[in-house]
Amino acid sequence: MESNQVALDCALPIEERIRRLAEAWIRDGRGSDHLVTGKAFFAVYSWHFRHWTDYDIAWAEYVAASYDSLGGSDGWKAMLRERVFCDGCGDRYRMENIGLCTGCMRYTCYACGAHGSCTGETL
Ligand SMILES: [Zn+2]
Ligand SMILES: [Zn+2]
Repeated sequence: MESNQVALDCALPIEERIRRLAEAWIRDGRGSDHLVTGKAFFAVYSWHFRHWTDYDIAWAEYVAASYDSLGGSDGWKAMLRERVFCDGCGDRYRMENIGLCTGCMRYTCYACGAHGSCTGETL
C-alpha cells in the first residue's frame, strides 16, 4: 500500500499507522518513496510533534526525513498556508487554522470542534 494511504487509513489507530510506515521505511533502506506528503504528512507530523517523547527514535527519523523531503521549514510553512475545506460546515480555512480528526481523517474547524463519535484526537 502506498505510504499516504497507510497514513490516512482510518481502520488503524494513527500510532499503528506511523509504526508501520517507519518500519517499512527502515526495512527498505530508508527510500524516499516511503515518505508521506500532503494531508498524510500533516497528520503524521502534527501527531508526532504532540507525542514524540513517548515513541521510538526511528519514528522521529522517519518524520524528520518526510519533513526534509517536503522542503523543511519553508515547505511546512507553505503547507500551513494552503486552504482546505472543513468537512463539517464546508467553510474554507488555512491548514494552520483547522483541525484534523485522527479517527476519520476529516478536517474539522474550531467552530465544528472535535468529533465525539470518533476515536483518536483532533490535531
Ligand atoms: Zn466547520
Ligand atoms: Zn472524526
